[in-house]
Amino acid sequence: MTISENVAAVLDHVITAENKSGHKTTVIGVTKYVDADKARELVEAGITHIAENRTELFLDKQEKVSDLPITWHLIGTLQRRKVKDVINHVDYFHALDSIKLAYEIDKRADHVIKCFLQVNVSGETSKHGFSPDELADVLPEISNLSKVKIVGLMTMAPIDASETELIEIFDKAKSLQVEIASQNLARIPCTELSMGMSQDYQQAILHGATFVRIGSKFFK
Ligand SMILES: *Cc1c(COP(=O)(O)O)cnc(C)c1O
Repeated sequence: MTISENVAAVLDHVITAENKSGHKTTVIGVTKYVDADKARELVEAGITHIAENRTELFLDKQEKVSDLPITWHLIGTLQRRKVKDVINHVDYFHALDSIKLAYEIDKRADHVIKCFLQVNVSGETSKHGFSPDELADVLPEISNLSKVKIVGLMTMAPIDASETELIEIFDKAKSLQVEIASQNLARIPCTELSMGMSQDYQQAILHGATFVRIGSKFFK
């Protein structure tokens, strides 16, 4: 299948899930597997939100397709020493997973950065992110940082999660997001949910995802 055929198929499924769930979802194309020409094809097929997971690849891609109108997402773990190189080029950062990183972003940003707090809902030890219990302590502190805006929560389900586990994780993330939003903390609107990838984006939308991050499905 061509990229544009894959895009059409994914968007079709997204619209069906949106209609069932009653809310809109933004599809982010993850281009970490492909070169800039393929990324360009994806954008030309209609996916204008693009994500990379590594700083170097992010900056390289961005430069190579700088003529296109793209909203840029950084989705992977970000080392503190790399924040200054990349943060002002990012529209959305999805992997805010420590207080120290939040302070570094606040220090290096020249404008307000839209961030997702990464939450480890599944409790897998290999996963990055705050545990749900930690959030009560970190939220008031992050709320004080003038350049860090928490637009929502991001979570990843284990690759081998069963259908039941998957739904539990998505529902838990959704209830955390709603609970945080209800606190009305400064700079923490927390209205968005970034969850769902190639394998599980339809389920994620049905359970509240407002951003899905899709890579391999576009490039098969
Ligand atoms: C690679 C990646 C994705 C996309 O994964 P696919 O299964 O290829 O759709 C989504 N989110 C993150 C954080 C990733 O690193």
